[in-house]
Amino acid sequence: MGVTRKHPLLQAQDLWKEYPMGGAEPLRVLRGVDLEIQKGEIVVVVGPSGSGKSTLLHILGGLDHPTQGNVLVDNDDMFSLSEEELASFRNRKLGFIFQFHHLLHEFTALENVLMPALVKGEPVKTAGPRATTLLREVGLEERLKHRPSELSGGEQQRVAVARALMNEPSLVLADEPSGNLDEDNSSRLHRLLVELSKKKGVAFVIATHNPDLTRRGDRVLRLAEGKLVGQRHG
Ligand code: ADP
Ligand code: MG
Repeated sequence: MGVTRKHPLLQAQDLWKEYPMGGAEPLRVLRGVDLEIQKGEIVVVVGPSGSGKSTLLHILGGLDHPTQGNVLVDNDDMFSLSEEELASFRNRKLGFIFQFHHLLHEFTALENVLMPALVKGEPVKTAGPRATTLLREVGLEERLKHRPSELSGGEQQRVAVARALMNEPSLVLADEPSGNLDEDNSSRLHRLLVELSKKKGVAFVIATHNPDLTRRGDRVLRLAEGKLVGQRHG
C-alpha cells in the first residue's frame, strides 16, 4: 500500500470576491483569503457587519462562486465541478445552518430532517431511524411531528442542526446560528454544536458576533479588509 499523505479537510487558496457595482469600482469583499480547516475542528469567524463573513461561508460551502481562487474539500476542487455535481457534492459532504432556520413550514420536524437524505435518493427505511436519532440527540424526541410554526425559536434552530447533520457531512457551515435566539437558547445551542462536533468528528466554520460561541471555538479568525487573520488559537 502506498503512503497516503494527510491533507486538510478544507483548503481555500487566494479567494477573491468582487461584486460588480454597475460602472463604479467593484466592491472587493474578499481580497486573497487563505484558509485550512482540519477534520473535526471548530473555526469561528468574527468581523464587523458587512466585512464579508456570509460571502466567505457561501463560497466555502459552494453556494456562490469566488471571483478568483479555489476551494478543495477532501482534495476535490469544488469549483471545477458542474453545477449539478456541485449540488450533489454539497448535499453529501456539507451541512448548512443559517440565522433563520430555513425549515420548510409545511413539513414536520422529522420530515425536515429527512429531506437531505431523500434528496440524495436514500430510502426512508434507513434514513428514518437516523433522523429520529438525530432529533433525540438535539433534545427533540418529543417534537417529531411538530411543524416549524409549532416550535420555539430555539427548537426550530435545533431541528436545523439535526438537518445539517443528516447526511453525515464532514463540514458544517453555520452563519450566525444563534443570531435570532435569546441568551439561554443561544448557550444551549452552542453547547450542542460543540458536543455534536466532538462526538461525530464534524468540522464547523461558524460566523458569529456572539462572545459565548466565540469562546467555544478551537480557533478564532477575524475577517478584516477582505483578509482573514488569526486572532487566537485554542
Ligand atoms: P457580513 O456577513 O460580514 O455582514 P456580507 O458577506 O453579507 O457581510 O457582505 C459583505 C459586503 O458585500 C457588504 O458590503 C454587502 O453589502 C456586500 N454584498 C453582499 N452580497 C452582495 C451581492 N449579492 N451583491 C452586491 N453586494 C453584496
Ligand atoms: Mg452575514
